Amino acid sequence: MTAHNPSLTLVAGGAGFIGSHLCAELLARGEHVVCLDNLQTARPSNLRVLESHPNFTFIEGDIVNPLPGEIVALSDRFTRIYNLACAASPPQYQADPEHTMLTCVVGTDHLLRLSESSGARFLLTSTSEVYGDPEVHPQREGYRGFVNCTGPRACYDEGKRAAEAMTFDFARMGRAAVRVARIFNTYGPHMHPDDGRVVSNLICQILAGRKVTIYGDGNQTRSFCYVSDMVDGLIRLMESDADGLEPTNLGNPEERTLNELLDEILAVIGGPVAIDYLPLPVDDPRRRRPDIARAQEQLGWQPRVPLAEGLARTCAWFAEEIGAPDFENRL
Ligand code: UDP
Repeated sequence: MTAHNPSLTLVAGGAGFIGSHLCAELLARGEHVVCLDNLQTARPSNLRVLESHPNFTFIEGDIVNPLPGEIVALSDRFTRIYNLACAASPPQYQADPEHTMLTCVVGTDHLLRLSESSGARFLLTSTSEVYGDPEVHPQREGYRGFVNCTGPRACYDEGKRAAEAMTFDFARMGRAAVRVARIFNTYGPHMHPDDGRVVSNLICQILAGRKVTIYGDGNQTRSFCYVSDMVDGLIRLMESDADGLEPTNLGNPEERTLNELLDEILAVIGGPVAIDYLPLPVDDPRRRRPDIARAQEQLGWQPRVPLAEGLARTCAWFAEEIGAPDFENRL
């Protein structure tokens, strides 16, 4: 490779929440990054920051469709392809379930075929949702999950399961070198304020002086990973020598009930706050915590940012983002 013709990393979904942090980190490490995104759930300002970097190229396109000509023209230069392209928040991925399923299956097929023709290593971002409402706790990769294939979450859960199946088939057939990350709940700056997930909802509601929405009784659990830890895990997995025929959980094993999460956010921003208890969404998992032994052993990875610290950074970012000056001063 010459300086004029450097190898490229493709990040599909690079304008989204995790994708934008991944692009920034890859650029900081000296990589040349091409971002392909349909801007369905992206924050435009995520992109504006990246676009000022000389080694960053943005191409608008939806992986459901045949890949844009500009991507095909660059295919010989790709050495790494990350697939983060899919709405991941339940209200977002349920708004157009057919598109969600096609993004997972047809979109992943398009990117796997690009990996095959370019010889690039491929990383699929799968999800803890493949475990459904788990009967095994914490969830290790060998657990096959308890998923409702007819429910409103199925477009995403089953879509990602099918994407995993296809990714591993490409690997078994020698068509692509692959890695599969199963991402557990992740939070941090660059989340869309209207994303609909619990961390962004609670923070934005409190900052705006509104009631907070807790679905169900708030005793269901999640384990929240700060976004910089997630990006570190994704890059380590991509660059690892793992044989690529097994998925790897990436997430923070510190488990909290939603009521505990609310208390931690209130400890940062200050309370009290009125709570609106709303019905639990259909098929909402009761608990979720990753077993990260595989990532620890194979990648030497584990989350570093404690929840209190990550929430403080996230609250400060949202206060500026949505313009809550009173709170900015308090944070
Ligand atoms: N949730 C909530 N209030 C909200 C948004 C979500 O209580 O305003 C709940 C939701 O029902 C679930 C948990 O928070 O039990 C995490 O939801 P999220 O959408 O963040 O992620 P996922 O369900 O995909 O883990």
